[in-house]
Amino acid sequence: MSTVIDSPEIGSTAADAATPEFFTGSTTDFFSYEDLLTPEERQLVAQARAVFERDVRPVVAEHWNNATFPFEIVPALTALNLVELCARGNNFLLHGFMTLELSRVDASISTFVGVHSGLFAAAIAQLGTDDQRERYLDDAISLRKIGAFALTEPEHGSDVSRNMETTATRSGDSWTLNGVKRWIGSGTFASNVLVWARDTADDQIKGFIVSAALDGFTAEKIENKIALRIVQNATITLENVVVAERDRLPGATSFRDTNRLLTNSRVWVGWQTVGLQFAAYDCALRYALDRQQFGKPIASFQLVQEKLVRMLENATTSLGTMVRIAQLQQTGTLRPEHAAMAKASASTRMRESVALGRSVLGGNGISTSWGMARIFADAEALYTYEGSYEINTLVVGRAITGISAFQ
Ligand SMILES: Cc1cc2nc3c(=O)[nH]c(=O)nc-3n(C[C@H](O)[C@H](O)[C@H](O)COP(=O)(O)OP(=O)(O)OC[C@H]3O[C@@H](n4cnc5c(N)ncnc54)[C@H](O)[C@@H]3O)c2cc1C
Repeated sequence: MSTVIDSPEIGSTAADAATPEFFTGSTTDFFSYEDLLTPEERQLVAQARAVFERDVRPVVAEHWNNATFPFEIVPALTALNLVELCARGNNFLLHGFMTLELSRVDASISTFVGVHSGLFAAAIAQLGTDDQRERYLDDAISLRKIGAFALTEPEHGSDVSRNMETTATRSGDSWTLNGVKRWIGSGTFASNVLVWARDTADDQIKGFIVSAALDGFTAEKIENKIALRIVQNATITLENVVVAERDRLPGATSFRDTNRLLTNSRVWVGWQTVGLQFAAYDCALRYALDRQQFGKPIASFQLVQEKLVRMLENATTSLGTMVRIAQLQQTGTLRPEHAAMAKASASTRMRESVALGRSVLGGNGISTSWGMARIFADAEALYTYEGSYEINTLVVGRAITGISAFQ
């Protein structure tokens, strides 16, 4: 990984700080996990990092404050081929490091890419027909058309698989969908939304590719979020929306199929939590070296050093976990409880890391002008989505005891 990032949001005093000689890239990737990539893969990560720094970092703070989406950066993301790497690729470690680097620059943009590629495009790639792949995948991979993933409902989040209210009723070669979905990332501008609905005939949950242009489809932006403000989450209402049978995903005949997708998406959220921890660490370390109190940089105080070391320990431990998870994915031996434990543990460490980082910045830690507040707030969304900490913990609890605490 790179050296600490020269963030414009950090403010002029920190940006002017001298970088000590020992302060090199290997300091951040403390155990040199990136060495597990081939030289070519490392080159790809370095290229992506440069693009994120050049095209993403300069615009995100303002968009975050305004809760708007930076459409202007999409071409730069397209050029990196991130969607294909996630949806059709099988290089899990490389994908993990890419996710880490993007999240390190901005968690909202990383969420936008993750939902589009890891949930929408991957679902079509893995559970769709050749016809669906032909009609939807190229546009998705090139980010010409954005996809969303609609599972959660206003009354059902953690228990949505058991109590989903959205229905799909078949009549000949078409289905009629009715229901409301909540929190749908990119839902305000996505061209197509993968909607999960309960088949009124067999009670099983099925997936449908729904065009946002269909009659009866409406999306309303969720306002006043304190996290991932760039992500345009929507409440989507489906009122007698008619979808063709050819747009039903045949590979998803029960929630078990959805769960397979969610296991992999839990993994990229785990990588996001690592990126966010390094973002917090980068920001706190720069600040601590620059900020003077009692006539010295605050980095010279033992209690501040302890915070910085704890943040680096948390981030490094989480990274080690995610590297092992990528190896399990690569060998096809990843189980849902592995992904659940990784996400639960990394997101708990993340929450501690961003709180420590925020305190290192003192009062400036609560102003989005200094970067840390955005990181601090975004961590809350990551802690909750793709299975909250509690639900992921209970998935592991079920695996080790044989008893499900959340039936
Ligand atoms: C920014 C953001 C983006 C999102 N994007 C999407 C998206 O694109 N598509 C989509 O479908 N969804 C999306 N979600 C929804 C997300 O997946 C849900 O928020 C999550 O599953 C939790 O559901 P809930 O918010 O309804 O909380 P609830 O399920 O109501 O849970 C509330 C609290 O109760 C706890 N809890 C629930 N059941 C138990 C139990 N049995 N034991 C112990 N504790 C329990 C939870 O852990 C949590 O702390 C997004 C959410 C956010 C915040």
